[in-house]
Amino acid sequence: MWIKNVEFVTSVFHLKDLPDEGLPELAFAGRSNVGKSSLLNRLIGRKGFVKVSQRPGYTQSLNFFLANKSFYLVDLPGYGFARAPKNAKKRWQKLVEGYLEKRKGLIGVVCILDIRRDPDQLDMDLFYYLHYLGRQIWVVVNKADKLGQPKRYARLKSITQSLPQFTGRPWVISAKTGLGIQELSQHLSKALPTQ
Ligand code: GDP
Repeated sequence: MWIKNVEFVTSVFHLKDLPDEGLPELAFAGRSNVGKSSLLNRLIGRKGFVKVSQRPGYTQSLNFFLANKSFYLVDLPGYGFARAPKNAKKRWQKLVEGYLEKRKGLIGVVCILDIRRDPDQLDMDLFYYLHYLGRQIWVVVNKADKLGQPKRYARLKSITQSLPQFTGRPWVISAKTGLGIQELSQHLSKALPTQ
């Protein structure tokens, strides 16, 4: 197991409350309901540790988890929840953009998609924005267990064709069954400075 211990550190609602810089960080982003909390729980190896979202679109905080006492996993608020009030969306943007732009220790962002849908405008906006900032992106395609092999292949092909070239090939996973999690963990651990 890559992550041997983890502790919840803080939920940040305002940029001024970010924890001190100094440790490397991996952030996790995705549309509400894409399985971001489930993926984090898988990587951490503890069911239910990252609270499975209860009011999607309303959770406006950046949640910091300290892993192996040496790096942060940062759970970014999910986007694209249709019923979220307009001012909530604005707050989301200000908080997330401020974080992504300024955070020195941020190594890269894991961007999660659902295998059943091609990336939409909001996903694309995030990819291009991260690219513009020069941030490393890992695209992770979740919920692979929902489809049988032929359909899975067809969907993956379609998603890959929709992705901008700079994102590279997506990682296929299932946060539910654990498919692809080990490979993804290994890859992410290599992106961190040697611990
Ligand atoms: P979040 O809003 O992105 O944090 O998504 P959650 O982790 O709360 O997951 C949303 C829903 O999708 C929950 O009902 C999860 O049980 C389900 N889910 C998450 N990942 C998977 C997966 O890989 N396969 C399946 N079948 N369901 C999943």
